[in-house]
Amino acid sequence: MTQLPIIDFQKFLTGNESEKRKVALQMRQASETIGFFMLKNIGIPSSEVKQALQTAKRFFSLPAQVKQDLAWQSAQSNRGYIAVRRETLDPTQKADLKEAFNLGTQKTELDLSDPAKNKWPASQPEFRQNIEPFISQCTEFSFQVLKALAIALDLDENFFCDAHDQQQHTFRLLHYPALAENEGYDNHEKRAGAHTDYGSITLLFQDDIGGLEVKAKTGEWVSATPTENTIVVNIGDLMQRWTNDVLSSNPHRVTQPSQSRDKDRYSIAYFCTPNRDQIIESVATCVTPSQPNKYEPVTTQEHMEARLNRAY
Ligand code: CA
Repeated sequence: MTQLPIIDFQKFLTGNESEKRKVALQMRQASETIGFFMLKNIGIPSSEVKQALQTAKRFFSLPAQVKQDLAWQSAQSNRGYIAVRRETLDPTQKADLKEAFNLGTQKTELDLSDPAKNKWPASQPEFRQNIEPFISQCTEFSFQVLKALAIALDLDENFFCDAHDQQQHTFRLLHYPALAENEGYDNHEKRAGAHTDYGSITLLFQDDIGGLEVKAKTGEWVSATPTENTIVVNIGDLMQRWTNDVLSSNPHRVTQPSQSRDKDRYSIAYFCTPNRDQIIESVATCVTPSQPNKYEPVTTQEHMEARLNRAY
């Protein structure tokens, strides 16, 4: 495999049952092998993706103190600003050359029993105006992807959607600063160290700079080459566990391609997370005599906190 499969999502959104299933099975095949694929025709206009990336760019250009006032505080809330080198995705390497800003969905904002609240930059009212509707679009789209995976696994089509109905997802803006020569960065350092994602699925919008690589089961790194009007989707650890290793959560990293390491890279990730109290146990269609159940049940919360505490 030299590049990620590109799957047309249009027929899943508008087609009949058999057309939907065909798209879903393509997604399953990619999820079983490399754990990543790209989708085109996802129903979110590219102009809105571009606007969200522009909003991210404006946010990260704010003075350091303004961003620091919105700092990330705990794994439990997992919201706020994370400075360059604050996070180490690969604990065997130096900390990551990236900064990030995490937000939650509107549904969790409105939930009075949920103490985690978004930290909106007060001096930038247009930030919230642009980003809040975009988060909602990501949520709607994520439900379509979860539906497709359920269909592909012969589950009730709402199986995963129901388990995510509290929408405890993390929306994350990312900025990988331009790496000028002679600033003490080593060419071999990663913009983001090799890691797997923690949750169920991740959606990723990336600009055209490149650098994202995915480790195939053969051990080779495959470039997730930026492709216009596509979104990258990948399987996270929780989904791998939930499907008894049928779907695969593959390691990935962000490198510094020599032709673009002196440029800033921006991306937006949407980490889908099942409801906190959801018990994650191998789904029945993924347990067979040749593939017996490998995992004890765990709640989403137990799994996520263990993973987050390792990266900070
Ligand atoms: Ca990731």
